[in-house]
Amino acid sequence: MIKQHIRTTLVLCASAAALIGCGATDNTVNTAPPAAKQNIPKNIIMVVADGMGPAYTTAYRNYVDDPSTPSIENVVLDDILVGNASTYPAPVSGYVTDSAAAATALATGVKSYNGAIGVDVDKQPLQSVMHFAKSKGMRTGLAVTSQIVHATPASYVAHNESRKNYNAIAEDFFDVRVNGEFVADVMLGGGTSYFKRDDRNILAEFVDAGYQHAETYESLALVPTGSNVLGLFAPVALPWVLDDSRKNRLEYMTKHAIKHLENDNGYFLLVEASQVDWAGHANDIASAMTEMHDLALTMSFLREYVEANPDTLVILTADHSTGGLTIGAHGDYRWSPEFLQNMNASASVIALGMANEDKPGDYVAKQLGFTLTDEELATFDSVAKQDDAIRLSAVKTFLDNKTNTGWTTTGHTGVDVEVFAFGAGQSSFLGQIDNTDIAKKIFSFIDGKAPQRGMASTTGVTIY
Ligand code: MG
Ligand code: ZN
Repeated sequence: MIKQHIRTTLVLCASAAALIGCGATDNTVNTAPPAAKQNIPKNIIMVVADGMGPAYTTAYRNYVDDPSTPSIENVVLDDILVGNASTYPAPVSGYVTDSAAAATALATGVKSYNGAIGVDVDKQPLQSVMHFAKSKGMRTGLAVTSQIVHATPASYVAHNESRKNYNAIAEDFFDVRVNGEFVADVMLGGGTSYFKRDDRNILAEFVDAGYQHAETYESLALVPTGSNVLGLFAPVALPWVLDDSRKNRLEYMTKHAIKHLENDNGYFLLVEASQVDWAGHANDIASAMTEMHDLALTMSFLREYVEANPDTLVILTADHSTGGLTIGAHGDYRWSPEFLQNMNASASVIALGMANEDKPGDYVAKQLGFTLTDEELATFDSVAKQDDAIRLSAVKTFLDNKTNTGWTTTGHTGVDVEVFAFGAGQSSFLGQIDNTDIAKKIFSFIDGKAPQRGMASTTGVTIY
């Protein structure tokens, strides 16, 4: 089912905006480079796929492959790849970053320690590209599948010495101002429990300040175009794609965010596929691939959007890789993603659900969407009597063995990550760069200047 939506067309590659990422050589489209002015984007959309190391993008291509053809078809990510980024944090945290230090680097251009939210190694607040965009009169927003106070979006808005201080970070979403204005005009994701609290009702404060509030995906569609919006669709994070009422929730939120942000002065939007990382931490290949699919749908939508709005720049990267995912394991040259393609629920929900079933094996087979052997059915009948952690581990290990997926850690790894870009200014992201360079180039674009390779950030807008 899932793969029908995602085939990309190489035709898109013929567009001028996508020339470099596609490696096009046709002279009829490779002439007449756009004037320098046209390479300064009016709108900037930064997409972070949390935890999406290179093994994830390869695995995703295989996952949506049509096995009836001899080639493995390109996916949207193949058409927009431009380079590679290093991810290491400030020296005090070594070679392996967490999402907070990496998001601070991507948002501010400054490397910090693991755990830092928009602060430097001395815990001093840093200006993010979102703050700078707001100071230049652009509209600003974020659309993420985690709670909106989670490390990645938080680093664009807030300042805190620790990513764990969710309540204080939520307060920063209201209290940090740029020239008296809120940092983000549109905020979509999860996290009601941090905004509607007994000690402070930040949700009510935003409503009093003129923000529209949406608490369901459907009610978001009813918000008048051009509004300021706080859309919180879950108490904490959104459900896994596999368990959500909307399998395209990131694409849907991205479309709606853009609808409210478009204006003559341009906009900056942060989009995050937050839960690729969580699937990596959980060593859950089914959720890793389905979260990647929501990301791919989002990128396909953004390709179409930039075709129609070539003054927009879209950048996609990961903050780091997670889980040490391998395509093949145990010395066996096999990967079998077909076992992941008809699942009706996440491994977590299957593990919970089987405990209440009379015939757990049959239930598991139905949820996984493929036939189990008598021996496999009996195994799940027996596992269903065990405790939560054992059942969950059994489902994930079963899928790892079926697909022959490997993992080396439940944490992050220090490998470089891919960089993807298309639209106005795309060529600035070519080649090997550092995660801080991404922020520096965005600062430059927002300042109306073409970025120089390796330049330092020169902006100095007061954010308090
Ligand atoms: Mg994140
Ligand atoms: Zn992580």
